[in-house]
Amino acid sequence: MYAPYRCKIVPKYKQSFSVTCIIGENLLYLSMWFLAGGLVWPVRWNGWPIVTIAWAVLVLVVQVLLKKHNCSGCYYYGKTCHLGWGKLSSWMFEQDSGDPKTGMRLSWFYIISPPIFLLAGLLVGILLDVGVWHWIFLGVYVVLNVLSFPIRKKGCGLCAMRAVCPGSAVRLSRD
Ligand code: SF4
Repeated sequence: MYAPYRCKIVPKYKQSFSVTCIIGENLLYLSMWFLAGGLVWPVRWNGWPIVTIAWAVLVLVVQVLLKKHNCSGCYYYGKTCHLGWGKLSSWMFEQDSGDPKTGMRLSWFYIISPPIFLLAGLLVGILLDVGVWHWIFLGVYVVLNVLSFPIRKKGCGLCAMRAVCPGSAVRLSRD
């Protein structure tokens, strides 16, 4: 755990978040991952949507690893953070059992995947024979990604980790 939090030197923060907030934010992420998989669904190998399958496996593996390397060292370990993942982490891993540097590298997953799937979605739509649903998926994917910015900023503004978290949208605001 980061030293200031172990010593309980924390700025004003929220101890736990409501179930509505947790479900809402998780649904947002799940929808974006689901849509990303849908955008590459037409890419087949022997009839199998291999890219979608690879993406599903990647999401699962990275999410489990993030619970270990990020969340097990978080202030919210064992608590309901804005995503509820602190609780999830405490069910799966010992506190501080991860490597925060690995967690930081794994967090690139959130930054790299949206532009890749936006580009992949465009290429699949142009090069392959897709229906109107592909373009609707792509449009919703873009809207959800844009919406995630203010939602993330709001969550980060209430989070105890915002001053030190490398991915915080409001890292500089200390009150
Ligand atoms: S605030 Fe972030 S790092 Fe901390 S437990 Fe929740 S999801 Fe994990």
